[in-house]
Amino acid sequence: MLKRTDYKKFEKEIKTEKKSCWEIWDNKTRKLAFDFSEGYKVFLNRAKTARETVEHGIKLAEKSGFRNIAELKNAKPGGKLYSAHRGKSAIFARIGKQGLKDGFKMLMAHVDSPHLDLKVRPLYEDESVAFLKTHYYGGIKKYQWPTIALALHGEVYLENGKKASFVIGEKQDDPVFMITDLLPHLDRPGGPGTQPRQREVQGEELNLVAGTIPVLSKQIKEKVKLAVLEHLYDNYRIKEEDLVSAEIEAVPSEKARDLGFDRSLISAYGHDDKSCAYASLQAFFDSRAGDQTQLCAWIDREEVGSDGIGGAQSIFIEVFISDLLKLTSSRASIDEVYRIFSASQAISADVVAAIDPDYKDVHDPRNAARLGYGVVLEKHTGSGGKYNSSEASAEYVQKLRMLFKKDKNLVYQIIGGMGKIDTGGGGTIAKYMANRNIEIIDMGVPLYNMHAPLEIASKADIYSAYLAYKLFIQA
Ligand code: MN
Ligand code: MN
Repeated sequence: MLKRTDYKKFEKEIKTEKKSCWEIWDNKTRKLAFDFSEGYKVFLNRAKTARETVEHGIKLAEKSGFRNIAELKNAKPGGKLYSAHRGKSAIFARIGKQGLKDGFKMLMAHVDSPHLDLKVRPLYEDESVAFLKTHYYGGIKKYQWPTIALALHGEVYLENGKKASFVIGEKQDDPVFMITDLLPHLDRPGGPGTQPRQREVQGEELNLVAGTIPVLSKQIKEKVKLAVLEHLYDNYRIKEEDLVSAEIEAVPSEKARDLGFDRSLISAYGHDDKSCAYASLQAFFDSRAGDQTQLCAWIDREEVGSDGIGGAQSIFIEVFISDLLKLTSSRASIDEVYRIFSASQAISADVVAAIDPDYKDVHDPRNAARLGYGVVLEKHTGSGGKYNSSEASAEYVQKLRMLFKKDKNLVYQIIGGMGKIDTGGGGTIAKYMANRNIEIIDMGVPLYNMHAPLEIASKADIYSAYLAYKLFIQA
């Protein structure tokens, strides 16, 4: 029995059609996406570490009229405030008409990116060269870090009680630092004429070249090391022992720049997760106040499992909600905080892998994200049999799908987990929020080269993320 006559029309009605942003957007929207990315590149170049990102975010918030919660005695609907947590995480809030009664809407991104920390005792001299030992932070492929220009971003707490800060390697005429590698001529285990070894770089080999000019003195043994210490002391009053109370990060010194003939992509350090952090804060600033209180949280330590102070597992989130309650209502107890959590919805704004044609075999191409196809909704995270995951409910995904229909320029794609089922995968902060009974889904920008010194993101996807976050937060 023939049920329909026009199957072309029927197909259009019920089949999922995948089109990229570039196929859907007119010139006006394309321009909006390109313009948005200009602000993003400026942000990336100023905010390479978690501290710098939070500092910069607070500056932007203060310019938009947000006030430090510590200075407030009460807060009314429409009130705009922020709370910085030990300089490396922050929560921005706009009080809704209902206060916190009906829960909150939250965008949450992380502001730490993989990098190299200097070790507690970093400085040494060998073969008349001074080096700084590093300890990598987050999941990196170590071979990607030698022979690229690195900048140092440091905060050192001195024995005199003061703090010394420096950034070396970001300005065009600054010196940079570099990890060395062995030349191919001497790296052929099979002997002359064979292929050079694809060396596996060890953690202890990630040492930065830091200087070669010795002090001129016959009595001194490590003359180049002393010359580096002399430089640190003369410029910043830093003594060798002060380096133990320091956070000094080596990050790629390369700036964010357009990639491709058409400039559709951005090459930069730290798209994970600055792309979502920037898009979420801009969306938060640009949205209307709603009935529910709106939050944008920038958190630290995601790349190392969200453990510790400032991470998504830390109770500073409960403390913030409790502080907010004290400003807006009379009741402020831990039960009240948990009741608010259970009435709240959140987006874990974090990046995902896009399918890369050179490494297709790690993906299920039918369930993979693509560059330029819009922001990615990731129904669940985790690996293997959804181990260590957070999974959004069918109801929540439906709500978001219906919401996202409201903006025809909002292009999005939906995947479930990253990569083939038994290949790998990854976690985000989502599960720590879900453990608090907050309804949450992952949603972010697809990348090539995730966790490499330079990552690739599409301007279309970053702008789509912004549009989605904005619709979500003001719904
Ligand atoms: Mn991330
Ligand atoms: Mn990451």
